Amino acid sequence: MIVAIDGPAAAGKGTLAKNVAKHFNFAYLDTGSLYRAVGLTVLNQGGDPSDEKIATKVAEEFEVKDIFAIMNNPEIRNERAGSAASKVSVIPAVRKALFDFQRNFAENPILENGQKAKGSVLDGRDIGTVVCPDADVKLFVTASTEVRAKRRYLEQKEKGLDVTLEATIADMKIRDERDSSRSTAPLKPADDAVILDTSEMSIDEVFGIAVKMVEKNQ
Ligand code: C5P
Repeated sequence: MIVAIDGPAAAGKGTLAKNVAKHFNFAYLDTGSLYRAVGLTVLNQGGDPSDEKIATKVAEEFEVKDIFAIMNNPEIRNERAGSAASKVSVIPAVRKALFDFQRNFAENPILENGQKAKGSVLDGRDIGTVVCPDADVKLFVTASTEVRAKRRYLEQKEKGLDVTLEATIADMKIRDERDSSRSTAPLKPADDAVILDTSEMSIDEVFGIAVKMVEKNQ
């Protein structure tokens, strides 16, 4: 069983994907963490994440030894890493370098305790369209820019970061535009995805819909 959850930033797909994975004891892969890790490595080397040559070299040399350590690394969670991720992710060679790991994880899902799982939940931008076009369940989770920016703003405030709502909305618009307009694997729902606009929905409501969809396919 492969569950694909795509959508723009701060739409609630990470929370949903984690909760669905936990409920069914499926393995969870946050594919954005791979792009974030590559983006951050480029920055840490003093490079520009939009530089095709540098970003491609980093992505091709990037070895995922412990995906759980990458996903749990708080350093990749800030806006600096998010913005770098959205720049490296435009580059087709970077996407190609990260493809096999994602595909392999979907087919051979492993839980954090090392056990094999009966299914996987992947969240990202192109899971239903490119990485797992054969996924059993495809969800496209979205919400209005204002709602998403407000969620991200409150999240960052809670972490004690010095941010404003206006700057968060502006950053989000830039990132959405970059993710949607790129020529390789742009952010868009798969033809057979179920679209969930979570602007007016609670986390529990969205979770309930996703659980029913997975159960129907079991
Ligand atoms: O989901 P998250 O915000 O962590 O993703 C960071 C960035 O990585 C996104 O803005 C997007 O540019 C890129 N990404 C992608 N394809 C994915 C996952 C993330 O292009 N499957």
